[in-house]
Amino acid sequence: MAAAPAADQWVLHDPRLWLGTAFHEVMSAARSSDAPIDALAVWDSAITRLVKTALEHPLDMRYAAPERWPSYFLVRQRCISLASQVPPRSASSKGTWDSSATHAAERGSERRLQAFGGLLVGRPDFYDGTTITEYKSNLPDPAWPGAASILDTFRRQMRLYAAIIGNATGRRPRNARIVAASGQTMDIPINPAECDAEAEAALGALHALNAKLVAEVHPESIACSEPANCAGCPFKMICPAFWEKLLTGEMKGLQDAVILAELLSLEDGPDGDLYTVGIRVMAASRDVFAEQQIVLRGSIHGKLPAAAVGQRCRVVGSYARADQRPRADISTLIAAVPGLPALCRPVNAAASKPE
Ligand code: SF4
Repeated sequence: MAAAPAADQWVLHDPRLWLGTAFHEVMSAARSSDAPIDALAVWDSAITRLVKTALEHPLDMRYAAPERWPSYFLVRQRCISLASQVPPRSASSKGTWDSSATHAAERGSERRLQAFGGLLVGRPDFYDGTTITEYKSNLPDPAWPGAASILDTFRRQMRLYAAIIGNATGRRPRNARIVAASGQTMDIPINPAECDAEAEAALGALHALNAKLVAEVHPESIACSEPANCAGCPFKMICPAFWEKLLTGEMKGLQDAVILAELLSLEDGPDGDLYTVGIRVMAASRDVFAEQQIVLRGSIHGKLPAAAVGQRCRVVGSYARADQRPRADISTLIAAVPGLPALCRPVNAAASKPE
């Protein structure tokens, strides 16, 4: 679904990732400049662009105020501070960088590297010829239940970058490091055998997916709809495989309350923005009462049309309270099922070819 641009309209993006983008842009500017940069100006420019993009998106427009993004001021302050500690490029290149033109082409910010016959492509945030540096807005708290899986994703990303760089240039990186705007860093060991195994696994997964697509397997049967995969997936709202598993009770235990329901009522609140939906729950990822009322804001969650009463609706990202009454927050989505896009079987190219 990530390859379908239209699907993006149904994805609520995470402003914490935007902070990571702004952080990365500031650090890249600092590392690419021969003189100290105006880090705040680079930050403000990145944030202005990210806000503009958010305002053009039907769901992300709720994040129009960057000051309300989680940890906005903390990340900004740390970012400015870290950028001021980056030595000018002319100074840093003297000791560590090979000055040959061949090696220079491999280094720098966001260099696109193609490897394994073009099947794997990587764009590390920064590579100085020996160390890969990737910028993130923060590292998860190790005590949080989802932390291990996120940290493992970071390690896999670095191993893949290392394999791509090694294959594309003939020289393997020696180190990899995650740098977070929070001030934390995470060094990731670069073991050649592990990096090669990571690349082989990625190529194997790519070949298996392509084989299914060539065989015109129905898209739903390609999906890996397991709670561990779906928990953090932004495509839940429009993913048929996810909702099939929700109906059979196989998505129990997700952190947020995801609900399939019949919409019973829509009731306007006093300020013209607040409104209440009454729903009869058909399936849910958490234990919730069979009949619920959820308070929403039109300015955040959009407004369901009156015609949606009686139709099925989907709720994603609501907060699961201990009293079994889910509560909407800024990341909650609600939509009537008839208005959602369907996943179509790929057209058989051979069958549709003109004679
Ligand atoms: S919701 Fe689950 S099955 Fe659907 S695309 Fe996401 S991870 Fe795959």
